[in-house]
Amino acid sequence: MKSIQLQSVFLYLYNEKLSNYKTNTMPFTSLGLSASLLKALAVQNYTQPYPIQLEVIPAILKRKDVLGIAPTGSGKTAGYVMPLLMNMQLVEASRSRNVNVLVLVPTRELAVQVREVFRLFSVGLPQPVKTLAVFGGVSINPQMMALSGVNVLIATPGRLLELVESNAVHLNTIETLVLDEADKMLNLGFKEEVTRVLALLPEKRQNLLFSATLSDDVNNITQMLLHEPLVIKIESEVENIDLITQIAYFVTNEKKGPLLRYLIKHNDLKQVLVFTSSIYSADNVVDKLRKNGIDAMAIHSKKSQGSRTDALDEFKSGRLRVLVATDLISRGIDIQFLPHVINYELPRSPKEYIHRIGRTGRAESPGEAISFVTPADKDHFKVIQKKMGKWITMIDSESINLHGF
Ligand code: AMP
Repeated sequence: MKSIQLQSVFLYLYNEKLSNYKTNTMPFTSLGLSASLLKALAVQNYTQPYPIQLEVIPAILKRKDVLGIAPTGSGKTAGYVMPLLMNMQLVEASRSRNVNVLVLVPTRELAVQVREVFRLFSVGLPQPVKTLAVFGGVSINPQMMALSGVNVLIATPGRLLELVESNAVHLNTIETLVLDEADKMLNLGFKEEVTRVLALLPEKRQNLLFSATLSDDVNNITQMLLHEPLVIKIESEVENIDLITQIAYFVTNEKKGPLLRYLIKHNDLKQVLVFTSSIYSADNVVDKLRKNGIDAMAIHSKKSQGSRTDALDEFKSGRLRVLVATDLISRGIDIQFLPHVINYELPRSPKEYIHRIGRTGRAESPGEAISFVTPADKDHFKVIQKKMGKWITMIDSESINLHGF
C-alpha cells in the first residue's frame, strides 16, 4: 500500500473562490494549455480559471496524481478534462486508437455530462480525441460497437465490467484513471466493482480522484491509489449557502401537496427542482401536480435512461416547469442558474441538505431554497440548521389560505 505524502495542501473557502475569481490575475494562458484549448475556453466564455483549475491543471500536465476534495460546481470537470486532452495530444499516433483515459463515475447523468465537457474541449484539437460514455440501464450492443477507436472512456463501474467480460474493451492501455465523485460511487455500493476495475489496469499510471467529501472509504481508496498526490480542498458548499435565500414552511403531511401548488402558482415559479425522499413520493408529487395543471416530470433510478434524459433536457431548456427528483441522482444534475429548490421532504443528513440547496447558488447566481417541515421533522430540521450554522425563518402554513390549491 502506497502512503500519501501530502505534497501541497491548498484550502480555499468559497468566498475566497469568488474573490479570487474576480481578482486573480492568473489567466488561463499561464497554465500551459495549447492554443486550441484556449480557443475552446474562450468559446465557452471561461475567462478566468477557478481555484481548483489553477492548481490541478499544471499538476495533471506534469502527470502527477491528484486528490481533489471538491463538490460539483467547483469547476473540477474542466479542471481535469483540459490537461488530459492536452496530454493526449502528445500520445504517439500509433497508440492513439487505444483507450488512454478511463473516467469512472457513479451515475449515467454524470457520465453524459463529463462526456459533454470532453466533447466541448476536443473541438479543434490537432489530434482528434474520441470520447465515449457507457452506463447501464440501456442496451449494451450499441456501446460495444461504438468502442472502436475510443481514447477516453467514461463509465459507470458495473457496465464497464460487463464490457470487459464481453471482451469489448481492454483496460491494459490506460494511462490515466479518474475517479469522479468517488464518495458517491462508494456510497452507492460500487466498492467491489471499483476494486475489480483497478485490478485490470496497468500498474504504472496517473490517478486522479475527486470527491465531495473525504469519508473513511474514500480515504482507504486514496491510500491505495494515489502516489504523492497534489491535494486540493475546495470547501464550497457551506459558504455557498450565504448566496441562497432559505425559507421553511411548517406544514402537516396532508397540506404539503396544496402548499407546493400554492407556492408554484401564487409565486409564479417557472423552474423548480423538487426533492422527495422516495421514488413513490416523487411519482406521487408529479401525478398531483399534473392533475392540477402544473407541468412536471420525475427523475429517479426506476425511470428508463431515455425518460431521465428527456426530463432533464426539458427542464434545463426551461420547457418543463417542475422536475421532481430523489437524492440518489441529484448529484448528476448540473443546471446553471436554477432559481428554486423545494425540499418536499427533508433529506436525512445535513450534508445532503446542503448539497440539495447548493444547486441554487451555483455559478455565482443566487437562488431560493424552500423546505417543508412537518411536526415530525422539527427536531431533525434543528439539527440541519445547527450543522449549517444558520437559522432559517419558518412560516406557519396555517397562516396561508390554501383553499382551492
Ligand atoms: P463542475 O464543478 O465541473 O460541475 O462545473 C461547474 C460549472 O462551472 C459548469 O457548469 C462549468 O461549465 C462551469 N465552469 C467551470 N469552470 C469555469 C470557468 N473557469 N469559468 C466559467 N465557468 C466555469
